[in-house]
Amino acid sequence: MFTYCPTCGTKLVPKAAGDDGEIPYCNQCERFWFPNFADCVIILVANAKHEIVLAKMPYLSERYESLISGYIKPGENVEQAATREVHEELGVSVDQLDYAGTYWLPQHQMMMHGYIALTTDQKLHLSDELGTASWVPVAAAPARMWPPSPENSALDIIQLYQANY
Ligand SMILES: [Zn+2]
Repeated sequence: MFTYCPTCGTKLVPKAAGDDGEIPYCNQCERFWFPNFADCVIILVANAKHEIVLAKMPYLSERYESLISGYIKPGENVEQAATREVHEELGVSVDQLDYAGTYWLPQHQMMMHGYIALTTDQKLHLSDELGTASWVPVAAAPARMWPPSPENSALDIIQLYQANY
């Protein structure tokens, strides 16, 4: 929740906002400040052999691998963000991008937008952000990843992939 206006610094006051109840309001800017949170994409990249890309991000964990993910930038739509992240991090083009649900991460106050990206079996060209990334048979993936938790939407997307592809 905001206490001060992020634009002008005025102390916000509670004001009724229809069905949402009382929301912090800036009398200077004449606008409400609803709670804000980050929007991110998380992408399962798969090839026709039912292999998926697992990546290790050293700044997150030296041990566990995960799917590709990143923040959505202002001005792009969610599909563009997903395609961009796959291209930036793996150097891989996406043939088909399928929606795979949204996942709220309570601890990080983040909305994850899940996608399944189908590609050919392309060679990976890693960005500096990634320590390693490789094609892994999907059935072998969960054992290499973070344990199940409310924060772990990657395992939900893998289950969705296994059930439908
Ligand atoms: Zn203001």
